[in-house]
Amino acid sequence: MPNGHDIEHDTADMSSEYECLQCGVVVPAETHPGTCSACGGDFQNRAKSLE
Ligand SMILES: [Zn+2]
Repeated sequence: MPNGHDIEHDTADMSSEYECLQCGVVVPAETHPGTCSACGGDFQNRAKSLE
């Protein structure tokens, strides 16, 4: 990248919460946290509607 133009991430706006489907723990994360460190369950983005 010769011009050194970095893409800035607005963490304040991008932050979201993920909830573990098994134990219900909620963690703030910008990206999908993968699996729950407590129970190994899957996380779901709370911003998405449950349908
Ligand atoms: Zn869990």
